Amino acid sequence: MKNFEFARPTTEGEALELLAEGDAAVLAGGTDLVTLMKRELVTPERVVDVKEVEAWRGVAVDAEGGLVIGALTTLEDLLDSSLTIDHASLRDVADAVHAIQLQQTGTLGGDLCHLPNCWYFRNGEGLLGQRNGESLVAAGDNRYHAILGNAGPAKFVSASRFAPAAIAWNATVRVAGPNADQSEWMPLEYLYRTPNVEKQGVTILEPGQLVTHVRLAPRTGTTTSAAYEVLATTGLDWPLAAAACTLDVSGGVIRAANVVLGQVAPTPWVSREAAAALVGQSPNEATFERAADAAVAVATPLSKNEYKVQLARTAVKRALLRAVGENEGGLR
Ligand SMILES: Cc1cc2nc3c(=O)[nH]c(=O)nc-3n(C[C@H](O)[C@H](O)[C@H](O)COP(=O)(O)OP(=O)(O)OC[C@H]3O[C@@H](n4cnc5c(N)ncnc54)[C@H](O)[C@@H]3O)c2cc1C
Repeated sequence: MKNFEFARPTTEGEALELLAEGDAAVLAGGTDLVTLMKRELVTPERVVDVKEVEAWRGVAVDAEGGLVIGALTTLEDLLDSSLTIDHASLRDVADAVHAIQLQQTGTLGGDLCHLPNCWYFRNGEGLLGQRNGESLVAAGDNRYHAILGNAGPAKFVSASRFAPAAIAWNATVRVAGPNADQSEWMPLEYLYRTPNVEKQGVTILEPGQLVTHVRLAPRTGTTTSAAYEVLATTGLDWPLAAAACTLDVSGGVIRAANVVLGQVAPTPWVSREAAAALVGQSPNEATFERAADAAVAVATPLSKNEYKVQLARTAVKRALLRAVGENEGGLR
């Protein structure tokens, strides 16, 4: 690991000042950043450990009934808070991280800004996994890579487990910095980008900026939500495909729907096709199968990951069934 300066601010102002200077990295739970630094995939001059910034921790409900979650909130805090009960899809995700240690240390902000688990990136071949301008991924072992949004040079999948559920709840995110008095709220969907060149990164965050809070829309009486992740093992693992949804059902008809897929594209993947297949229909298995088909109809699998198309379809269907409290069905 390369030498670095270490700082532990206690206020937002201090943290932003420390992040604004030089090449600095945000350390939250540190469960991934430390690994990245050990492998010298990330080599900051300064590590800013933000864990003591209390204003960025915890779950609260704002005046409009929105759920506001601090970026430092751990997965365990999310599960322990009675305030998250109405946003069931968030709890589905936190529950699916099968490791108590990670539930206690991993944070929401760390999950949302997690760098890809792509093995080309993790082995030092860069975010795009290219050598001499050629994609190692396209011709190589791409079994865990993107099946959607992969036409450009980026073929990794977004690692965030919470982003699909939060985006399905029309989440907004507060981005602070680079100056101490600068912050703005934006749709969480817009935080993510598919890089065309290496230095673009996986989010639109500029040096000195970080995520401080996420706000989920209030739950109305008729809205339900769920998330479903397809995991290869019952232990700690990254999903092979995932989906989250919100459904607003009244009078036996779906009035509004959001469907967002995870682990299938370089960003969380909002499926407007699936949502369109749901609205105006009754919430039953046949409708959900049509929506799942619509979600993957635009998939463009790589040479070794066609199997993920079926997994993504299954994830969408099961998330929808789970949202209306139905049996999640078989593997079809
Ligand atoms: C051995 C090991 C195995 C793991 N396996 C799995 C697994 O199988 N499945 C799984 O889901 N998780 C796994 N994880 C956990 C994974 O690291 C988590 O997803 C965790 O939520 C990351 O949160 P963190 O707070 O520890 O992030 P950190 O490691 O602190 O940060 C992660 C990244 O986000 C950036 N960052 C952190 N907070 C912010 C912020 N507020 N604003 C902007 N950028 C920020 C950091 O600079 C860094 O680049 C594993 C961890 C370890 C140590």
